Amino acid sequence: MKLKLVLLMSFAIACAVSMSTVEAKHADLDEESKITVYEKERQLNKTPHNWKKTSSQFEMVHADTHEYTVWHNFIKKTRKCDITHRMKTDVWYCEFHNHTKSETSLEETIHSNRHS
Ligand SMILES: [Zn+2]
Ligand SMILES: [Zn+2]
Repeated sequence: MKLKLVLLMSFAIACAVSMSTVEAKHADLDEESKITVYEKERQLNKTPHNWKKTSSQFEMVHADTHEYTVWHNFIKKTRKCDITHRMKTDVWYCEFHNHTKSETSLEETIHSNRHS
């Protein structure tokens, strides 16, 4: 009879402990779910981009005018040459985050005149 009581007591204690453990776990879960929401947003931001090229545009930009000399029948002449930059602008779109990015690069430098 005494042993039964002890067992019952220990069972009650075990119950109490497990109850408090459950409560503590629950409190942790609330914190955790808050973190999970934050984590999800962070994960979304961390999601690698899905860049897809949507367009490529070329543009001719006058860069400079320079002079060069040529010899014609033993006479030194000065000529002007226009330097044009052929610029390429690529546009990418990322459907994961609904944003775009563009990159402009120099494709070619063109001299209007042939000269050395
Ligand atoms: Zn993105
Ligand atoms: Zn030139």
